This record gives sequence, C-alpha cells and structure tokens, in this order.
Amino acid sequence: MKKPLLVFNDKGIYCAPADVYIDPWRPVKNAIITHGHADHSRWGHQNYITHHTNVPIIKHRLGVIHVTGKNWNETFVVNNVKFSLHPAGHIIGSSQVRVEYKGEVWVFTGDYKTEDDGIAVPYEVVKCHTFITECTFGLPVFKWTPQTEVMHSINQWWSENKAEGKTSILFGYSLGKAQRLLKYLDTNIGKIYTHGAIENMNNVIRPMVELPETTLITRETKKEAILGNLVLAPPSAHGTTWIRKMTPFVTGTASGWMAFRGARRRRAIDKGFVLSDHCDWDGLLSSIKATGAEKIICTHGYTDIFSKYLRELGYDARTEKTQYEGENAEMNKEEDLEKVIP
Ligand SMILES: [Zn+2]
Repeated sequence: MKKPLLVFNDKGIYCAPADVYIDPWRPVKNAIITHGHADHSRWGHQNYITHHTNVPIIKHRLGVIHVTGKNWNETFVVNNVKFSLHPAGHIIGSSQVRVEYKGEVWVFTGDYKTEDDGIAVPYEVVKCHTFITECTFGLPVFKWTPQTEVMHSINQWWSENKAEGKTSILFGYSLGKAQRLLKYLDTNIGKIYTHGAIENMNNVIRPMVELPETTLITRETKKEAILGNLVLAPPSAHGTTWIRKMTPFVTGTASGWMAFRGARRRRAIDKGFVLSDHCDWDGLLSSIKATGAEKIICTHGYTDIFSKYLRELGYDARTEKTQYEGENAEMNKEEDLEKVIP
C-alpha cells in the first residue's frame, strides 16, 4: 500500500519524502509553522518556515530562532515535494499548508475561521484530495453572530458600565483576540488600557495592522485615571491582585465557549460575548465541501463526533491525535461538553 503523504507521529505531522514537519510539538529539524499560538509554534526546532507576517510574532514569543518567511501562494520545493502557505483567517499571519507530491494534494488548516475579521487575511479555499481540519467548535450548537453585532454589544456594555461609574475589564488572548477586540472598540466612549502581555503583543503587530491607541497600566497608573475606561487583559489575569486595582469593575470575556450556558458563570465572569477565531459548525462544513476533498482528517476539537457526522455525509473521515488545543487553553471544554451532549 502507498504511504500517506502526511503521517501523524509522536513529534507532529510529518512529510517523509521532504523530511519536514508541520506544527510539530517536539523539537525537529525542519518545521513549517501555521501560526503564532503556543500549541502550534513551539520552541526548539532547527529551522522554522512560516508566513512572513508571523515571523515577528514567533520571534517575540520564542526568542532567537532560525526562521524563513514566505508569501501567500509562494511555492517552495523540498525533495520534489511542493509546499505553499495560504491564508487561514484565524489570526494575523495564520496559514494553511498545502503539500503536493506526485499529483496528490493535501492541505492542513492549522486553526482557521471563515469570517473576515478585518485583521487576518481572509480564509482562502484550497482545493485538495485530503483535508486535515481542526474542529474546535465542531458541534451544531456553535453558530456565530456576525462580528459587527458582537462588537456593538461589547461597546454598549462598556458604555453602560461607564454610566454606572465602573471600569470594564475585557479578557481575550494576548495574540489574536486582543487585537481583534481592540480594533473595533469605540474610543469615543473612553480610553483603552492594557495589561503588559497584551501591550507587548500590540507593539509587535502595530507595524502590520492599524490599531487604536492604548495605555499600558504600570505601578504608577492612578486608579482614578482608569475608572470608567476599558482594560484589555489576558484571561490569566482574572482573579489576580493586578486586577483589584481597578475596583469597582465588571468583567467580560469574548470566546467561542461563551456559547455554552454556564461557561461564564462557572468562570465567575460578569458578561460573556460569543466571539471566536475558529470556524463555527456551518463554517467547518462549508469549507470542507469547498475544498472538494474526499478524505478528511480531524485533528483537534470535537473530533470523534465531527468525523462521525462527516462519514454520515459520505466523506472518508477519521480522527488523528495531536497536541493542538484550539481555544481550550483559555477555556476548559470538557466540563461544558457534559451539559450539551447527553
Ligand atoms: Zn490558534
């Protein structure tokens, strides 16, 4: 039997004829990296290849590395295997990886979303025979509201909190979600303050994306100055002493997991906004169909349920174990899953 073009081994997704890994989770010689989130871009590889807009991001995160930046659709050949990167629409610099060898085409999505968020280059359909897809939100319960509506609700929430004399603390991943929120916050309402982790990432991204002005909160920042304004912070800042300085405040979080009833309350967040950098159920299904692929491999998320559904639709679908986490680093999905699936 012919060997598959990409195999899943203990280090990552491996292309043997090229001796190249995609998003490996253990140190390897040659690594193609889809995007800057920690579960996809790890430390310790000898050579990194990624989209050029992801280069400053992974350098910021990983320090001194040997990295080569590529353009969208730029073909690079390794031992007769053709590779190219295509927009995944997940966060700035996020790519799908197309691999072609002897007429056979495979695509790995990394993380992706179909909605144009105005920051990442929008997701592009890439035709292939085998499509390796994430399915972080691969349940019918996940159906996203358009970004403009979500951002309107967030700005309204900020406005109401301000009228009540309270500071709004909004949680989002420091890479991706934070800049997406920031771009659409209404600075007519007030000032935007940031936690250091987000401010540092903003500074890396500002040369590539136009973002509103932010003010870093330091030891010298007066409590009175922050009052009524908005503070952007990473989820890990929740419940820390750093946040007590903002009293009186209300907390909000923007995540796909907020679609689950109870997710907000269990995390002791005052307000949840459903906003994700991953595909919803319809986004996954429409993308898969558009690729024309017959073989589908599900890597992370609700893989078993989703691949079973795909088989019912007639696809040759299966699941492979990986160490990618999607939005799980931020929110623990298992506890919520029990509430939805009997
Ligand atoms: Zn990601």
